[in-house]
Amino acid sequence: MWSSGDQTYDVAVVGGGIIGLATAREFLKRHPGLRLIVLEKEDILAAHQTGHNSGVLHAGIYYAPGSLKAQACVQGRSEAIRFCDEHGIKYELCGKLIVALDDTEVPRLMNLWDRAQANGVPDVELVDGDRLREIEPFATGVKAIWSPQTGIVSWSEVARAYAADVREWGGEIRMGAPVSRFESLLTETVVYVDRPDGEQDEIRARYVVTCGGLYSDKLAAMSDPEADDEMKIVPFRGDYYTLRPEKRHLVRGMIYPVPDPEFPFLGVHFTRLINGEVWAGPNAVLAFRREGYKRWDFNFNELSETLSFPGFMKLAGKYWKTGLTEMYRDYVKSAYVSELKRYLPEIEASDLLPGPSGVRAQALRRDGTLVDDFMIQHGNRIAHVRNAPSPAATSSLVIARMIVDDVLDRADLSPSRMYSPAIAAAIGW
Ligand SMILES: Cc1cc2nc3c(=O)[nH]c(=O)nc-3n(C[C@H](O)[C@H](O)[C@H](O)COP(=O)(O)OP(=O)(O)OC[C@H]3O[C@@H](n4cnc5c(N)ncnc54)[C@H](O)[C@@H]3O)c2cc1C
Repeated sequence: MWSSGDQTYDVAVVGGGIIGLATAREFLKRHPGLRLIVLEKEDILAAHQTGHNSGVLHAGIYYAPGSLKAQACVQGRSEAIRFCDEHGIKYELCGKLIVALDDTEVPRLMNLWDRAQANGVPDVELVDGDRLREIEPFATGVKAIWSPQTGIVSWSEVARAYAADVREWGGEIRMGAPVSRFESLLTETVVYVDRPDGEQDEIRARYVVTCGGLYSDKLAAMSDPEADDEMKIVPFRGDYYTLRPEKRHLVRGMIYPVPDPEFPFLGVHFTRLINGEVWAGPNAVLAFRREGYKRWDFNFNELSETLSFPGFMKLAGKYWKTGLTEMYRDYVKSAYVSELKRYLPEIEASDLLPGPSGVRAQALRRDGTLVDDFMIQHGNRIAHVRNAPSPAATSSLVIARMIVDDVLDRADLSPSRMYSPAIAAAIGW
């Protein structure tokens, strides 16, 4: 719906994924009466990462102690559970095992154990092979971390519930609204939104926050052209298989490998979903299109931009073997199944049906290092979420609070300093 009336707001949030919606909700919770708009380019909310993930309520085991991820995940999980309780959203704490297959993997498992302790992850336990099989009778391994507080939920349902609060608290959510440019004026920023008729809408906001997921680098470059040069989003697609309904009993909760510490991804795992399905995956291969969910989805400009970025060349030079192995497994089902069989020996290729895919937005620096932690960058009356990979859905309420705290430190958006139709009506303007 295109508005031709007053297009002036206190805050404009770009991106209708879980981070944008949580942030919009947090602004309105702090400042009822704030004139706020969320701009989302798609016709539905949670269309990308938020709607294409494993649906895990992570407990905070993996992350470097002291990192934003560690802090936000442990706290975010509790807050997400409280939010689900208050909003009648179904979730389940079905627990997760991180499994060391043999003695060579135990030192890496113990590093994770130390992290879990340092991060204050509740109720984690180290278990041996026998106890492991009591928890997951069809799994195998010599030792494991058992995290009974890890859970499952639909993150798109949570995001829609955030959106419902935004609307109820007076915020506006505009769909089909792709943002293509920002112009910084003395006291406000003009946000240009492309219209289907080829014209542009101009939205004026005192503060802008972008939460653009797979296009977060492009949105940052709209306010600072050099931003795109320093750091780019590399899209890593993850494909899932789903277990045939008659084989779902093979997995009670979640079974994860010990991840490679060099990579930000957790490795192919088994996850029970809140709708009862069981998924195996996701792997991690370079996506040839940022929002491309099929193996052959391709965008020439996006792919050549990734391949010509100096950071990508450095990354590929270092990890080309791992990258090729992942690609091989992606195209050859028997190779994918062999990997899964290491954790669940009874599984056969015929038990697995092709499943959905997700594309992760992973920020990569020019020097070839992957950005491990969440990252939020501030400019002139604008904040950009530059890196919000997993466990950002679990951490969304805490990330939103961090963003709003930072914005309020930089700008006075208190009701007394702003024009609000609600307040104006109340005081008789
Ligand atoms: C395969 C996979 C598995 C994962 N598993 C988990 C998990 O189990 N648990 C967990 O906590 N996290 C998980 N994650 C991570 C989690 O899904 C993401 O961290 C989270 O969804 C990020 O939310 P977001 O709002 O930043 O991004 P997104 O959900 O991608 O939203 C960004 C939005 O911005 C919009 N947008 C972009 N550009 C523009 C523009 N120019 N104008 C207007 N709108 C724009 C997009 O259309 C999109 O809707 C997983 C991610 C993937 C991909």
